[in-house]
Amino acid sequence: MAASRTFFVGGNYKMNGTLESTKKLLQLLKDAQLDSNTEVVVAPPAIHLLLAQEQLAGSPVKVSAQNAYHKDAGAFTGEISVTQLKDASIPWVILGHSERRTLFGESDELVAEKTKAALAQGISVIACVGETLEQREANESINVVVRQLDAIKKQVDDWSKIVVAYEPVWAIGTGKVATTEQAQEVHAAIRKWAVEKLGQSAGEGLRVIYGGSVAAKNCKELAAQPDISGFLVGGASLKPEFVDICNARL
Ligand code: PGA
Repeated sequence: MAASRTFFVGGNYKMNGTLESTKKLLQLLKDAQLDSNTEVVVAPPAIHLLLAQEQLAGSPVKVSAQNAYHKDAGAFTGEISVTQLKDASIPWVILGHSERRTLFGESDELVAEKTKAALAQGISVIACVGETLEQREANESINVVVRQLDAIKKQVDDWSKIVVAYEPVWAIGTGKVATTEQAQEVHAAIRKWAVEKLGQSAGEGLRVIYGGSVAAKNCKELAAQPDISGFLVGGASLKPEFVDICNARL
């Protein structure tokens, strides 16, 4: 079954870069020889989305927002709506990133509402889940991830346009990558959850990608795990090595 899941690599630029540096990064990607069997999506800061969209025209690399709000329009200063993403033809959005959950107080329910709203606009979602160090040490990793997934499942039946990103919070931006065993264990648990809750075919088809200090030096070993269908890359997506991560399967 694993072979039928297209490998997926997302680059999350977070709040980094200037117009000039983003342009350079995107050009590098546009000029690179990328594995044609891997889907590549980049998420620049909101102010660079249209630039990215324009620059990547004609390239198989697609653009994602890093967040969006679920209401159509109105008095929500500072927010961008899923409707506006659709209007700008942005095909992907990252939702529920741990930085949104921890620094900006997004609840499981809000992430679920946003996911539902994005899908309703035809936008595909990279839905992030993952436990903190404290939760891992309390042996709660799988419970936390299942709780976060259940919240989305309550509001969303069709998961065909969702990629789940498992990102242990303690591994994000720390250089502490989860061991292949730690990652595979949670990925397998997510697969089990998906088969139970979404049905055999949708559950087997769901892509579950890993995020947290992914780099050129560790991506091949992680990519070889049966339930790891790709990566969400932060820091290394700002460097030329992102190309090597996109090509982890070659
Ligand atoms: P990192 O970030 O690769 O810098 O650890 C991953 C992410 O937050 O998506």
